[in-house]
Amino acid sequence: MKLGFLIAGAAVSLMLAGGALAADIKHFHPKGKPPSKHTIEVIKKARATMNFADKRDFDEQKKGFIAAPESMKIKADAGHVAWDMERYQFLAKGKDFDSIHPSLQRIATLNLNFGLYEVLKDKIYQVRGFDLANITFVRGKTGWIVFDPTTAAETARAGKQLVDKHLGKLPVVAVIYSHSHGDHFGGVRGIVDEKDVKAGKAQIIAPRGFMDHAVSENVYAGNAMNRRMFGQYGVLLPASPYGHVDQALAKNVAAGNLGLIAPSKIVEEGIEEMEVDGVKMIFQNTPNTEAPSEMNTYIPDWKALWMAENVTATIHNIYTLRGALVRDALAWSKYINRALYLYGQEADVMFASHHWPRWGNKRIQEVLRAQRDAYAHLNNQVLHLANQGVTINQIHNVYEVPPSLQKQWAVRSYHGSVENNSRAVINRFLGYFDGNPVNIIPLSPKDSAPLYVEMMGGAEKIMAKGKKLHDEGKYRLAQEILDKLAHAEPDNRPAKDLLADVYEQIGYQQENTGLRNVFLAGAFELRSGIPTGASPKSSGPDMVRAMSTELFLDFIGIRMDSKKAEGMQFSINLITPDNGEKFAIELSNATFTNLEGFQVANPDLTITINRSDLVQVMMGAKTLAAQIDDGTAKIEGNRKVLNQLASTLIDFELGFEILPGTKAPAKAKVAKKGPFKQDLRQINE
Ligand SMILES: [Zn+2]
Repeated sequence: MKLGFLIAGAAVSLMLAGGALAADIKHFHPKGKPPSKHTIEVIKKARATMNFADKRDFDEQKKGFIAAPESMKIKADAGHVAWDMERYQFLAKGKDFDSIHPSLQRIATLNLNFGLYEVLKDKIYQVRGFDLANITFVRGKTGWIVFDPTTAAETARAGKQLVDKHLGKLPVVAVIYSHSHGDHFGGVRGIVDEKDVKAGKAQIIAPRGFMDHAVSENVYAGNAMNRRMFGQYGVLLPASPYGHVDQALAKNVAAGNLGLIAPSKIVEEGIEEMEVDGVKMIFQNTPNTEAPSEMNTYIPDWKALWMAENVTATIHNIYTLRGALVRDALAWSKYINRALYLYGQEADVMFASHHWPRWGNKRIQEVLRAQRDAYAHLNNQVLHLANQGVTINQIHNVYEVPPSLQKQWAVRSYHGSVENNSRAVINRFLGYFDGNPVNIIPLSPKDSAPLYVEMMGGAEKIMAKGKKLHDEGKYRLAQEILDKLAHAEPDNRPAKDLLADVYEQIGYQQENTGLRNVFLAGAFELRSGIPTGASPKSSGPDMVRAMSTELFLDFIGIRMDSKKAEGMQFSINLITPDNGEKFAIELSNATFTNLEGFQVANPDLTITINRSDLVQVMMGAKTLAAQIDDGTAKIEGNRKVLNQLASTLIDFELGFEILPGTKAPAKAKVAKKGPFKQDLRQINE
């Protein structure tokens, strides 16, 4: 996920959330509408037909509860509230809301779990509901082995304090990062001192490829991803039955300090056995599943199986709406299958980085099989249909999960939606083109919309028909024509308001959190314009330090406005002696390229700077010019090429328009940041 933005956004949501606990909960937006009779019908039908008789998740969610802290809020070191469970307590009142899909309300209620829980007596404990991810404490011979220290130092520290209070004070002697997403490592500095890692007093263990992927997934398209977070994560939606109710994996993401301590031990083999503080652990690398770098862990002596984020209480994203590379559903299924055959035959308890554990071998096998089958079915049946001509623009209306899986709560699509996951499989294998010539090089929406509006007989006719479709509950038809009108007439306020009403009803009807948030955030932006003021924080020093120089240089190429580089030509050799790297950099054909391990024969400029000093430039703490002036960086050749380069670079702004006519009148100013503009702290759920 998204952290920097998330952080700014979470603070905004908190402010907007006031009053959500009032007995009579009002819509947070003056133009907001209650669920229509058509929406209520959809929701009632789901309530009557879904498998609510199976309440095992509620038993498992409660099991082993030890204690909750006195306050539902966790303060950030910076003074604001980093975490707030209180604002979601409207869900704890046992009331059914007609503005929330009943299955979504079910997971949203389950995700209210909050506090310290026993997983395996005297051995494994979890603190849940302090952040998006759980923090898990495994008792070693001399201290705690922590699986996944949450997103923020503040929430990880609070988790450790709760453990200290109820289980006695023990040091953290090892941390295991299950995968390369920020909600699973960001809080590490809250529970471990880096000095202890360096001194060998604490170990940090991570899967193969961890450091590369911990930052790389969010760099190249980072600004666009941050912007799209407003949709998938509903960053600006208040916690409310009409707004944000859940994030599928948990409630939300903590708004605190994200850091990263590099692993002291990487698990390189497919399966690797290791003793960690006296506990025998078998690590199973599962690359390219939920994350590009991820691993499960089995503790054979306790028959305890840690499934990282590969198996939780939801189907995950094959395609995440915030934007990311499409994942591999078949590989994911196969790794679950391996875990089932290797460890699932005998495991007595299965626990994970989100949600709650499963106890008993039969139950564990049931959940592993359901998850294995759900991902394999998705992959196989979508391709089965694609091979018969069903396209990416139809598959979400055609593909169906088999009824036997639909009945199993462990494979409901709270996080990854069936619709988008099915499109994702086609996208992975065939790409976005559906084979129809009209869709190869279509007009942009704003260019095609006026023709549609003209041919439909103008705005008035569209509004009348749009209103009729809206009143009949035909929301997906209504959005087709109202979207055209809004694109043709971005200043048409009634059109945007009606489209917002349509989006809102579609949002209320969704079981999937991402879909709900995208539609409700769309309604919000159409009504109020795009958010101003919120800006991503610059990436923290840990994350910038973890970024390779090559990635930094690649991103300079992305920041370059090639129109400004027209006609320029230069070459630079960059040498970073302390890590032994060198780069050949060229600007030619209005394009900036770099090649690691090579040097240009006669460069215009040679820069020699230690990588540890270059980090200052990457963070924006110091300019390269200042470092040249004070002798930190040595140069040879024509210094002017640096000015030329600087003149081509732009800063990306977060507040770009997605929906027509939503740009704020006064241009939203994004806070000035350092030269490395991307926020690396997103959590790639
Ligand atoms: Zn996660």
